[in-house]
Amino acid sequence: MEEVGKQVTIETPVYSSPTMMSDAPSQTIPQHSTSEEIAYQMVKDETFAQTQAKLNLATFVTTYMVDSATKLMNDAININYIDETEYPRIALMTGKCINMIANLWNTPEENEWKTGALAIGSSEACMLGGVAAWLRWRKRMEAQGKPCDKPNFVISTAFQVVWEKFGQLWQIEMRTVPITAENPTLNIEEAIKLCDENTICVVPIMGVTWTALNDDVEALDAALEKFNNENNLEIPIHIDAASGGYILPFLKPDFKWDFRLKWVLSISTSGHKFGLVYPGLGWVIWKDKIHLPEVMSFSVNYLGANITQVGLNFSRPAAQVLGQYYQFIRLGFDGYKEIQQACMDTATYAHSEIGKMEQFKVYSDEVVNPLFIWHMEQEYQKDAKWTLYDLQAELQISGWMVPAYTLPKSLEDLIVMRIVVRNGMSRDMTNMLLIDIKNAVEKLDKLEYPTTTRIALDKGEHPKKMGFARSHSR
Ligand SMILES: *Cc1c(COP(=O)(O)O)cnc(C)c1O
Repeated sequence: MEEVGKQVTIETPVYSSPTMMSDAPSQTIPQHSTSEEIAYQMVKDETFAQTQAKLNLATFVTTYMVDSATKLMNDAININYIDETEYPRIALMTGKCINMIANLWNTPEENEWKTGALAIGSSEACMLGGVAAWLRWRKRMEAQGKPCDKPNFVISTAFQVVWEKFGQLWQIEMRTVPITAENPTLNIEEAIKLCDENTICVVPIMGVTWTALNDDVEALDAALEKFNNENNLEIPIHIDAASGGYILPFLKPDFKWDFRLKWVLSISTSGHKFGLVYPGLGWVIWKDKIHLPEVMSFSVNYLGANITQVGLNFSRPAAQVLGQYYQFIRLGFDGYKEIQQACMDTATYAHSEIGKMEQFKVYSDEVVNPLFIWHMEQEYQKDAKWTLYDLQAELQISGWMVPAYTLPKSLEDLIVMRIVVRNGMSRDMTNMLLIDIKNAVEKLDKLEYPTTTRIALDKGEHPKKMGFARSHSR
């Protein structure tokens, strides 16, 4: 530790410098400065051995953009989005992106500038959508002279962790509908049973992180219409479309899931997932200005344009907005469609190849988003000496990150594996992955003794307790 930062001369070779010959600092800021080159190399090396971003099939987040997009974003890396007075064009560009996304989701809003907000990711976007629903509900309850101390929202157990945070941070009860083998998506009937006058919204998910499926928003909308009418309520829908928001409009434009449905008042998405921009970028759109509580927004006037600004953060990077606007211009609707279709084709191909393996069973026959999950074939699992956690470890040797995890409550005994196909995954890469999977399985099949994860499983220990399951349900 002491050695770090000790003065070196310009001639000192990087790797024989005292800094490089010492432990990296971890508790206190080093006393002395270090040369630029050595500091760079030390930080660079610490992350060098990690999975290559492209081989990380666990993530939904963009790992590939063309050089000109990367340059554009790097050029804006020192721009703080919030400085709208200094960089008014970026605020305007954000407004244009919000318009484009709102129209992509068939907003009925007639204002020139549609109502929405820039976020760091879907997490912030979901929070904003949820808070708006909560504040609207409060206002309605207060107007009726009713208590506002017990709000709740309804979602399936396949929720992304942000919804648990939303519930805890704002103290809003999260009522969950279990996903089961028979009902792998939000069970509408059960969801309605959980609704009452304290329900601020129901949250269907388009592109469920755990299972890759979509909840049935159209059926939910119809069920809520009936329930609201019968009970004189106005329970709305916020859609968590982190992935689906950029898939469905391009690949299934006639499929009704968005603002065309009556009770859908807000939708959130991740610009950094299938929006094809590097992290962090999210968007939330409201159906109309009236659904965004005034206390959440402040307006900025520039060249006669009224831009609504909403967000949890104050300072935030502006580069992602440039990246998003670039992608919209560069790719156009057709380009996005082509890319999402290519991802779907690759996912469908991998899904069918893995489905053909005797050891495995794909979770769903259909591929509705460019990702899928699978598990061990039941018969095969009985005698297998290994689990999917072992396969995950084997694949890591070749650099792949293919996560194994267990499904939520009521399906928690099922260990699954997931592949997310993103822009940047070619057929050749997919074939390499499939070969690596087949070779790994062949190797595991030859084991004479069960692995530790298999032994633990036989003892009835939940894999989570074994420390293998990580938070791959992102
Ligand atoms: C990824 C994801 C989130 C969280 O989004 P971030 O952009 O990572 O903050 C929320 N919900 C769903 C369904 C997701 O897939």
